[in-house]
Amino acid sequence: QADLRSQMLEINKQAAKYYYYQLKSERGQIAYEYLRNRELSDETIIKFGLGYSNKFSDDLYKYLKGLGYSDGILKESGLITMDEKKGSYDKFWNRVMYPIMDVNNRVIGFGGRVMGDGMPKYLNSPETKLFDKSRNLYGLNLARLSRKPNMLICEGYMDVIALHQAGFDNAVASLGTAFTGLQANLLKRYTHEVLVTYDSDEAGIKAALRAIPILKEAGLTAKVINMRPYKDPDEFIKALGREEFQKRIDEAENSFYYEISIMERDYDLNDPEQKTKFFNEIAKKMLVFTEEIERNNYIEAVAKRYKIEYDNLRKLVNRYGAQL
Ligand code: ATP
Ligand code: MN
Ligand code: MN
Ligand code: MN
Repeated sequence: QADLRSQMLEINKQAAKYYYYQLKSERGQIAYEYLRNRELSDETIIKFGLGYSNKFSDDLYKYLKGLGYSDGILKESGLITMDEKKGSYDKFWNRVMYPIMDVNNRVIGFGGRVMGDGMPKYLNSPETKLFDKSRNLYGLNLARLSRKPNMLICEGYMDVIALHQAGFDNAVASLGTAFTGLQANLLKRYTHEVLVTYDSDEAGIKAALRAIPILKEAGLTAKVINMRPYKDPDEFIKALGREEFQKRIDEAENSFYYEISIMERDYDLNDPEQKTKFFNEIAKKMLVFTEEIERNNYIEAVAKRYKIEYDNLRKLVNRYGAQL
């Protein structure tokens, strides 16, 4: 079993090297140019080990067979698909390749992006004995060495890469899948504070709202960074640069404020009835603060923010508290 794992790690490493050399080849120029158009430097490309998978359907398969690996283990690696009729072919064709590393810099899987508008935009390695999406974070192998006081969690490969290139070497990504408690615990080993830097679209807002309680549950302080009017950190940095991004970090919003500001969208605060409902919802939410001082601080802050009486809000919160 241990031998199977180490063989699979070896295959992934060989594949990453192969993809990397393809990027440097004549055929790979299209992918290299794609990355350069996205403003990645050679240094960044090397640092993240980016590569290219050829247009041929069994290019990697032939290469790995040449190194002596059996069909069985190649199938196990998730890089090669075996089909009774069609034979063996590569999972990734004609894509820019992003190797996914674990915290110990071992390649455990890959993401591949089409260089245009094809579908799916990203293809990822399947779950294998090595690759468990729920317990890894892209970029953590680098971010764990950062000296910054917090970690940035974002959505995608390009976000992490653009952030590191701009000097934010504390960025990691959950790769489009739902953020998990295992990932939160992983972050907890390296930091106390996590800044959620998800996309500014509805999908990103939903993902942020799901991640916040998971981060808090793990004992981490969660804050939220606002990317608007840009879609994600990669686009933000391209448009406004690192200083402006640093400002957004400095202005990161307390996650409770963020949650209620999203809640607020569902209420018309000019209507007394809806406004009352809104404050009732806030009051219920306040019960997550079990420490009296903390709860009072939030009551005070929220009362100030919405210009309502502290005492009224406190009574409302206590009323819900008494029901528990
Ligand atoms: P890009 O900037 O290259 O267009 P992105 O990272 O902004 O990509 P999003 O659509 O915001 O792309 O998706 C965020 C992340 O979710 C991606 O980086 C990828 O890890 C994952 N993802 C996106 N689309 C898919 C897909 N079709 N299948 C699997 N994973 C995906
Ligand atoms: Mn997105
Ligand atoms: Mn995005
Ligand atoms: Mn993007």
